[in-house]
Amino acid sequence: MSKEHAQVHHKHVPQRICAVCREKVEKQVLTRLVCTDAGLFIDPSGKMNGRGAYLCNNRSCWERAVKTTILDKALKATLTDEDRKRLQQAMPPS
Ligand SMILES: [Zn+2]
Repeated sequence: MSKEHAQVHHKHVPQRICAVCREKVEKQVLTRLVCTDAGLFIDPSGKMNGRGAYLCNNRSCWERAVKTTILDKALKATLTDEDRKRLQQAMPPS
C-alpha cells in the first residue's frame, strides 16, 4: 500500500483527528489504537491491521476514552475491561 513515489509536498505533515477531542494534530503526537479480533491494542508502529483510531497526547482524552463509549463508537466495537485496562496503562502522564 505504500506510495513512496507519489508526489508529496515536502512541508506536508501528516495529520489525524483525535477520536475524543476531534482535534487535528500531527500524526507523531497521536497514538494509534487498533481493534483486532483479539481486542483493542496500542499500535506504536501504526502498521497493525485492523480498524484504527487515534488519541492525542492529552491525558483527559485518554481518560474519556477509558470511561466513555467514544472509542466503541469510533471503532464500531465493544471495548472489554481488558481493552480499557490496556488503554489505562498506555495513558500519557499528566
Ligand atoms: Zn484529544
